[in-house]
Amino acid sequence: MHLILLGAPGTGKGTQANILAERKGWLHVSTGDMLREAGAAGTVLGRTAKKYMDEGALVPDELVIRMLVERIGGPDAAAGFVLDGFPRNLAQAVALDEALAKASKAIDLALNITAPDDELVRRLGGRWLCRGCGAIYQEASSPPRVAGKCDRCGGELYQRDDDKPETVRARLERQKPPAALLAHYRDGGKLIDVNGLQPVEKVTEALLRAVHGTENGPK
Ligand code: AMP
Repeated sequence: MHLILLGAPGTGKGTQANILAERKGWLHVSTGDMLREAGAAGTVLGRTAKKYMDEGALVPDELVIRMLVERIGGPDAAAGFVLDGFPRNLAQAVALDEALAKASKAIDLALNITAPDDELVRRLGGRWLCRGCGAIYQEASSPPRVAGKCDRCGGELYQRDDDKPETVRARLERQKPPAALLAHYRDGGKLIDVNGLQPVEKVTEALLRAVHGTENGPK
């Protein structure tokens, strides 16, 4: 299964991609995580990408496409993958289709998690991550037991630069899935919308129903 999770920042794409990948034995590919890792490692790609990321802008297509195509060509992607944060626009979607076609593969399903803007701004502004294990906390709905400290590993919690309030609204506007991207998958009969305004487990259930429908349905 070759799956894409679409949705604006804050819809829970990353959380759900992690859960789906674990349950189904697929590779979870997050271009945001890959770019942040490259930034932390100080590679040329990482340093270039960081300038865009810190402003809440998208990293240029050619850089992200090259990185992604290389990643999904690896042996660990053979059992299937779930893409989180890619494609962000039609050009990336077309490049992905072309790369997959060369390997006689295709995207099977694009799941679009939806939520109203005001809810997303609230969620992103209250998001804290653990420096140690990457766990994600929400000030309103799932705060850590001790402020600033990870329940799981005791690590220090921090806010991503691009989750800070001054960046959040701009990022949201620039990074919602554009209509042309949604249309690309809708026209191909591959898009299913899922309501992201429900508890995490309910969203997971809805996503899994869609996945199983595609796995069992006509090819
Ligand atoms: P995310 O973790 O998906 O919210 O991504 C964090 C940041 O990484 C985004 O704000 C972009 O600057 C960059 N990024 C991640 N994926 C892409 C992509 N497919 N195309 C361009 N920029 C991306």
